[in-house]
Amino acid sequence: MKLIKNILVPVAANIDLQREIAKKLTISTTSITNLQILRRSLDARHRNRLKYNFTAIANLPRLTHPDVLDYKLPTAYLQEVNFCADKHPYIIGAGPAGLFAALALTEKGYQPYIFERGQTIAERSKKVDLFWQTGQLDPESNVQFGEGGAGTFSDGKLTSRNRDFYTNQVFALFIKFGASADIKIDAKPHLGTDKLKFIITNIRKYLEQQGCRFFWNHKLDKIIVKNGKLISITINGEPHQPACAILALGNAARDTFSLLKNQLIMLPKPFAVGVRIEHTQEYINATFYENKTNFTLTGPATYRLTAKHQNRGIYSFCMCPGGQIIAAASQPNTAVTNGMSYSSRDGKMANSALVVNVAPPDFGSSALDGVQFQKHLEKTAFNPDLPYFAPAQLASDFLNNKTSKTLNSSYRPGTYSRNLQELFPEYINQALKTALNKFAKCYPGFVQKGKLLAPETRTSCPLRILRQKDNFACQGIKNLFAIGEGSGYAGGIISSAADGYKLGSTFSTKNN
Ligand SMILES: Cc1cc2nc3c(=O)[nH]c(=O)nc-3n(C[C@H](O)[C@H](O)[C@H](O)COP(=O)(O)OP(=O)(O)OC[C@H]3O[C@@H](n4cnc5c(N)ncnc54)[C@H](O)[C@@H]3O)c2cc1C
Repeated sequence: MKLIKNILVPVAANIDLQREIAKKLTISTTSITNLQILRRSLDARHRNRLKYNFTAIANLPRLTHPDVLDYKLPTAYLQEVNFCADKHPYIIGAGPAGLFAALALTEKGYQPYIFERGQTIAERSKKVDLFWQTGQLDPESNVQFGEGGAGTFSDGKLTSRNRDFYTNQVFALFIKFGASADIKIDAKPHLGTDKLKFIITNIRKYLEQQGCRFFWNHKLDKIIVKNGKLISITINGEPHQPACAILALGNAARDTFSLLKNQLIMLPKPFAVGVRIEHTQEYINATFYENKTNFTLTGPATYRLTAKHQNRGIYSFCMCPGGQIIAAASQPNTAVTNGMSYSSRDGKMANSALVVNVAPPDFGSSALDGVQFQKHLEKTAFNPDLPYFAPAQLASDFLNNKTSKTLNSSYRPGTYSRNLQELFPEYINQALKTALNKFAKCYPGFVQKGKLLAPETRTSCPLRILRQKDNFACQGIKNLFAIGEGSGYAGGIISSAADGYKLGSTFSTKNN
């Protein structure tokens, strides 16, 4: 089997890839067999002349070409090194990491019990709608907490940097539970919050059929570790003695991180903070793809931008074409922005985070210093007269250090005018200014037409729970495991799900 890369084809509805490969390699179409597309990305370097860039595998006649490489199907590489004496390992957290750990564990013959502080999607959706409409926050069931985890009210981008065996399994499971088969080949697969809710509900029903049990409104509030072993955990004030427990907490579980601080080895880690920038999708389409593009084929335009300020990286993150900016707080009296979309991505606005890398030298070297830094930004942004409204400013006014008069945005419950430079330390303001000036030069109107909302703080986990490489066990504790974004070893839906799936794959019901 050979891998053929850089198969560039103008965007069109019907593409004969076999013919395109034959043309590229100057071979006959009939000599190409078992053709399979691995990846399809959009090459938008030349506006109005967008191309697909395919990567495929096939059997080919013997030939030498720089874009043809040997190909081996990714295979499982983890050993079954974990054993749980009880059929019901505990999983704390029903986000992608917890759910995919449960899926892998059921494949191994276990029936995990899953404890989640938030509610089911149906109940949680009502709470989130109420929050967006009225600013009434439920600190236990919100955009960050509840069935499906932080990803449920998201853009549902299924971005993944590496496609190993386990990531491929995660994509296959998403398809099994309701996603389109296209997600397997698209370089930027997207589900949208409506499809995610449907898929997550299907996963839960399947897990229940396999004998798993879900406990909603159940919060882990204590763990006891003795002599390198988890002895007991307390959930809603009630002690339990599970044989094994898996922490799949996500990056917003600040209270839980505090209670775990003295029991686990945790270190602060770099992450990124900044603002959300919003434009009309019409402007983004015209600027990044241009108007002759067939948007029904390409979907609305996206972008990915980077800049540097004194060795500090600034980048666009979680770009949501046709989406909306959302209030994403999980703690009272804090303001937090994030982005979301529906599967159709047909909203009139486009948004993206513009974030600046920060690291322990910026905020402190204790485990929870990054959390404190996030919290400080979120509290500074909160306006008690307009609870959970986001501070906002025209991007041009941010550069000129002045507040803006009126601002419309997709963000609910609403925005209030503020000079965002008051929120951030000076090095972040300077970095954002450098980036905005650079982007304005490359893309006329990017600053003039852009609105900024803040703060964007939940880009990834600000700490890491140290764990062992081979078996995912928390360092020094053989029956307690940490996975997903909250462990600090994963970030995003796919990598967190894959992290959970990997852990589940290391279990066996035989004690070797
Ligand atoms: C608005 C928004 C949009 C996003 N968009 C995207 C996107 O488009 N693409 C992408 O890849 N990523 C996106 N993300 C990030 C993505 O959602 C996360 O990376 C992913 O959900 C992490 O999965 P996880 O399972 O590790 O943690 P989480 O999804 O955070 O799940 C952790 C779960 O643990 C529960 N929990 C925490 N503490 C306790 C406790 N003490 N007891 C019981 N339960 C507890 C929480 O309630 C939560 O449900 C987005 C995030 C947000 C908030």
